Amino acid sequence: MSAPLFNRVALVGLGLIGSSIAHAARANGVAKEIVGTARSDKTRARVKELGFLDQVMETAAEAVAGADLVIICVPVCASEAVAREIGPHLSPGAIVTDVGSVKSSVVAQVEPHIPDGCTFIAGHPVAGTEHSGPDAGFAELFEGRWCILTPAAKATPEATDRLREFWSTLGSNVDIMDPEHHDLVLAITSHIPHLIAYNIVGTVADLETDTRSEVIKYSASGFRDFTRIAASDPAMWRDVFLSNKEAVLEMLGRFSEDLSGLQRAIRRGDGEALEKMFTRTRDIRRNIIDAGQETERADFGRGLSGSSKKD
Ligand code: NAP
Repeated sequence: MSAPLFNRVALVGLGLIGSSIAHAARANGVAKEIVGTARSDKTRARVKELGFLDQVMETAAEAVAGADLVIICVPVCASEAVAREIGPHLSPGAIVTDVGSVKSSVVAQVEPHIPDGCTFIAGHPVAGTEHSGPDAGFAELFEGRWCILTPAAKATPEATDRLREFWSTLGSNVDIMDPEHHDLVLAITSHIPHLIAYNIVGTVADLETDTRSEVIKYSASGFRDFTRIAASDPAMWRDVFLSNKEAVLEMLGRFSEDLSGLQRAIRRGDGEALEKMFTRTRDIRRNIIDAGQETERADFGRGLSGSSKKD
């Protein structure tokens, strides 16, 4: 058997993503030892009970000491404080990465705190569920999903290759992008869909009680998938919109224009325009299924671990 890729992997943040990495890394034998820490006593105590780490440390500074791979798994806007704390305690040669859903902001927050001799390579596993916390994690989360790495110019090819191999071992396909491009692409494929879900579910929440009960009763007809997305962690998504403001606003502008086009077609009774648009969108769904990123099966949000994988 070949030696594990890393001696000690340290996870800072042990929610859905941190705990899933621990389960997956363990299942695939990619590290000799996996340690970690979380902000609250409650989460640290729960992780000890769940037993998916070799050691649970009190602080991030303690967790990263002696680690050759450090993975920051906290909400995007908390990245700077974590980086500031761990910077002085990193081992020479350590690779530091993260899993945040926005990349330019994380690079700006973390990079200044990484000492010479260590390498920071920002990353984003495009995989998730609407659940959060250390109980939500599972080893298969990253299988067949993309992980995007955004290495800075000074990141060595060797470090990038090792991190790529780490994610491949966890089952992901790895892509390399620059952070700005990542943020623009994810704004439309992930951030705007979440915003739409939060908005539509919020609109329903504001409706009169009678109508609302009808909406819940007949929710299978599309609304239910929105509620699953809109049940995602509020702090995580607050940070995504605060830190990817420009790309989200740019894409939201395009979305609003297209929505106005649909509104006009409905008002004018332009069935041809509506049908043309709906045929194009059906093709996109087909392409996603063909790319292996979705199945034909209509699971209405009841997939792995009681939820559907999403990003
Ligand atoms: P989560 O389940 O809510 O876990 C967040 C973890 O971060 C917890 O351990 C929490 O500690 C800790 N934390 C929260 N606020 C903190 C702060 N201000 N300072 C230090 N630690 C803090 O979240 P998650 O879903 O794993 O998300 C983690 C990261 O992954 C985010 O950056 C998110 O953008 C990214 N991501 C998420 C998904 C997804 O679908 N959820 C997918 C891809 C990437 P306590 O438990 O002690 O509070």
